[in-house]
Amino acid sequence: MKKTSLWKEDADASAYPPLQNDLHVDVAIIGGGMTGLTAAHLLAGAGKSVALLEAWRVGGGTTGFSTGNLYATVEERMHAICSKFDSETAHAVAASRTAAIGHIENLVHRLAIDCDFHRRPWRLISEIPQNNKILEKEFHACREAGLDAYLETSTPLPFDISRALRIENQAQFNPMRYAKALAAEIIKAGGSVFERTPVLRIKEGSPHSLYTENGTVTADKIIHATHSPKGVRFVHTLMGVHREYAIAVKLNSNNYPEGIFWVMSRPHQHSIRAYTDSRGESFLLVLGEPHKVGHKKDNESCFRNLEAYAGARFDVKSVDYRWSAQNYRSADGLPYIGALDEKTGVYIATGFATDGLTYGTLAAMIISDLILDNENPWAKLYDPRRHNPLKSAGRFIKENVHVFMDYMHDLPYRAEAKIVSDIRPDEGKTVVIKGEKFAVYRDEAGVLHQVSAVCTHMKCIVNWNAEAKSWDCPCHGSRFTVDGRVIEGPAMIDLPKPETGKPH
Ligand SMILES: Cc1cc2nc3c(=O)[nH]c(=O)nc-3n(C[C@H](O)[C@H](O)[C@H](O)COP(=O)(O)OP(=O)(O)OC[C@H]3O[C@@H](n4cnc5c(N)ncnc54)[C@H](O)[C@@H]3O)c2cc1C
Repeated sequence: MKKTSLWKEDADASAYPPLQNDLHVDVAIIGGGMTGLTAAHLLAGAGKSVALLEAWRVGGGTTGFSTGNLYATVEERMHAICSKFDSETAHAVAASRTAAIGHIENLVHRLAIDCDFHRRPWRLISEIPQNNKILEKEFHACREAGLDAYLETSTPLPFDISRALRIENQAQFNPMRYAKALAAEIIKAGGSVFERTPVLRIKEGSPHSLYTENGTVTADKIIHATHSPKGVRFVHTLMGVHREYAIAVKLNSNNYPEGIFWVMSRPHQHSIRAYTDSRGESFLLVLGEPHKVGHKKDNESCFRNLEAYAGARFDVKSVDYRWSAQNYRSADGLPYIGALDEKTGVYIATGFATDGLTYGTLAAMIISDLILDNENPWAKLYDPRRHNPLKSAGRFIKENVHVFMDYMHDLPYRAEAKIVSDIRPDEGKTVVIKGEKFAVYRDEAGVLHQVSAVCTHMKCIVNWNAEAKSWDCPCHGSRFTVDGRVIEGPAMIDLPKPETGKPH
């Protein structure tokens, strides 16, 4: 069983060089996932000089750990959008997301991108009659949103269901192959792509300066296409960060159902889809088990639960891949896409929940229109400066109570291990040494990896993620390697090592 995503294995290994010199461009894009790549492609195609700076590898962030489903509806559910806003808003959400899927499809055809793009139905499934009411509510909301929705009582799934909601003509693809192809097209359009080039500091000004290890990029505009914007931003206080788990299994029967299936479960749903890779091997992907980042000690159990879930419904032969990734949920159920303010030319795209392959594409379309001074019919709807405290209040208060509790839990005298020698091989714990809190991991060979436990973003204390072997900040989702290097999230600065450089 491989501890990586299926998509990463089934994409070419093309690479781009790190930035090695100073550069001036019209637009600097931080992040090479769905959002950054699409924006860079659109802007380079429109004649702007563009540099895309990716900390690791293009597509290697959340995009390469997603499910590869493209649908007009949203994880939050359309009835939630209808009741928080109104049916007009739900209509605009569905129309804008449909346009983004259309953008992907056009590119796939026009550029002959080999990424297994197929139009497929999307289904929401109620396994038990008790869930039918919610399903019917969602059916009406989808209809109000202008989606071609139907109710049905049977599906291609091999287990009994009570009722299903179907929307035709949604889509699926291999997100990693699509990302790789877009990167190549950016170069063809005259843009630059730099990998292994983390942006370490940003100085906003005229022009803006983005500092990396071996070069500085100056730019008139910056796009934070980093899933969550870098630095300390108000928008971080509006979002909850959740981690979710995936397995890809093989079946004995070879009976892989086509389409997107969201099966309602308590307290969360499971997402199911099939994929046949370039060697002709088929897999069933099963995703679920979300929890707040940094809030689950035994997160290996999430995989056990997924395996049990899949095993109870399908004739599972083997579990071949497993992975996990995180997402950011906005306070009012809509993502934050657009300029941070009127003047500075800094753009963000975040709060996508698990709908960001489509929302990321839409964000790129909106932001490039804003930069190119084109009208965009949806820019206002997703504007990060929108004021809707009533629609946001519930989740805003909940998320910030959690953050407050995390700060309380993080009081300096509270630690998980009293002394470093209490930490067993392949275990990570926080330890207080001379009044300072450290995050200490003992690897399987017994070597200690010790860094400060204080997140460099907003000073919460990081928690150990046993499954991904990382230090995760429960407050705003920054993640760090065992040696303190930023993996993702709003932090830009690595966790410092103790001054002596030696484990205590
Ligand atoms: C388990 C799971 C399944 C999902 N499935 C789906 C799905 O089926 N359909 C769907 O629509 N959405 C899905 N999503 C959501 C979707 O994957 C994301 O919303 C989307 O990929 C976000 O794209 P992005 O480009 O904004 O971010 P990312 O893909 O995360 O890209 C951001 C990039 O920024 C880079 N970066 C960060 N900091 C720096 C820095 N300082 N300097 C340079 N680069 C930096 C990162 O390395 C990363 O590559 C899923 C999410 C999860 C967690």
